[in-house]
Amino acid sequence: MIDLFKETIRLQHLLCKNGARKYYRFRSAHFYGGIASADCIGCMLDCVFCWSQKPRKNPEKSGCFYSSQQVAEKLISIARHNHYPKVRVTGNEPTLCKGHLLEIINQIPTNLLFILETNGILIDEAYAQSLAKFSNIHVRVSLKGGTPALFSQLTARSQEYFGLQIRSLRTLLKHKVSCHPAVMLDFLNSNDLKHLQTILASINPALVTDLEFETLIHYPAIDSELRKKNILLYQNKYF
Ligand code: SF4
Repeated sequence: MIDLFKETIRLQHLLCKNGARKYYRFRSAHFYGGIASADCIGCMLDCVFCWSQKPRKNPEKSGCFYSSQQVAEKLISIARHNHYPKVRVTGNEPTLCKGHLLEIINQIPTNLLFILETNGILIDEAYAQSLAKFSNIHVRVSLKGGTPALFSQLTARSQEYFGLQIRSLRTLLKHKVSCHPAVMLDFLNSNDLKHLQTILASINPALVTDLEFETLIHYPAIDSELRKKNILLYQNKYF
């Protein structure tokens, strides 16, 4: 199994250069009622359900480098053109290139909300403190499964790292950064869900109320991988 931190460092060397980062697309998207979106390249996880496999698995060959100023300008322009109040960096994992990401947020006017969609793995005390300096930010932490074992099965990384996802929520709340968790319900049985809700409640009961349920997109390649890995799907019968 690939080590998560060695993979993080490998990707950072490849994708974060002189304050710039690789992106494969800039677009308007209908999520959040309309949002300007920059799709970055590179992630330290290898989720079986990832909808952005191609650029993620071919970072050397995909996309181009953009400075933080270029990314901020593109996001602002798309948002203004479409009258969107929100912008985001998404696609793969935005937190990989920390300095670059902070510089982008710094250039986003405060009347635009910056939504950081992340797996939370890299959000430690120092990262949360840096994010806390911005008033126009909301962090959505996308949890991979509800238990360490399921995390490992879904992400192809060691189960010990599930705790880092949970740490991100605790740390963000400690530093008063607006945030909420999300999880794909399709992979959780009732026990997994209860386990996750208990963990979230132990940090802050509001995290249970705010838990967002993501929906699995059934691309043929994803369904085939799920079958290959014998990953069970549940029918959301708990709601
Ligand atoms: S964390 Fe997100 S970008 Fe990374 S592999 Fe998983 S789904 Fe894809």
